[in-house]
Amino acid sequence: MKIINNGIETKKNGSYLKVEEYSDDATEKLAKHYKETISLIGEDPEREGLLDTPVRVAKSMQFLTHGYAIKPDEILKSAMFKEEYRQMVLVKDIELYSLCEHHMLPFFGKAHVAYIPNGYITGLSKIARVVEAFSRRLQVQERLTTQIRDCIQETLNPLGVAVVIEASHMCMQMRGVQKQNSVTTTSAFTGAFLRTATREEFIHIIGQKLH
Ligand SMILES: [Zn+2]
Repeated sequence: MKIINNGIETKKNGSYLKVEEYSDDATEKLAKHYKETISLIGEDPEREGLLDTPVRVAKSMQFLTHGYAIKPDEILKSAMFKEEYRQMVLVKDIELYSLCEHHMLPFFGKAHVAYIPNGYITGLSKIARVVEAFSRRLQVQERLTTQIRDCIQETLNPLGVAVVIEASHMCMQMRGVQKQNSVTTTSAFTGAFLRTATREEFIHIIGQKLH
């Protein structure tokens, strides 16, 4: 059993690496629309505090959706190694930040991903990068969960894959829907994890109160 906490490549303080992912062309076009948006909500885009906001938001939005430019299966293929290890490999507490596709508001939380190798393993940080690649798009939590599962299953062909995501949705919390502090949990399994004993071992090791 291998357990890696927080497998994403991080800076010393544990936060995400800051990656600048934007093109000048897209920034200019988006900024025009954000300036218009600021006017439409009744603000003055020429006000000093808002002058640079359209460009900042345009760059920010490109970063928050940079997952479209990443091919997650290629991340895994870039570090596939032949290995006879056939026990569960678990990467837990992978931080994730995404945008819900219905409101374009953040949802964020943690992903726990496990697989049981069948001849091949991948670099542990690559699992976290797959989570990142699918998160940085407009998403629903349910699809995010199955996309991560399917990508690992189809690329590594392991004996099984398990994915659990626990996340808080700003579109619920900020918009006055009840249960403001609720956490949404989704899970998706293949292969060996469809067996109760294996799945329970995985959930036990995650060690979280799953909803
Ligand atoms: Zn939403």
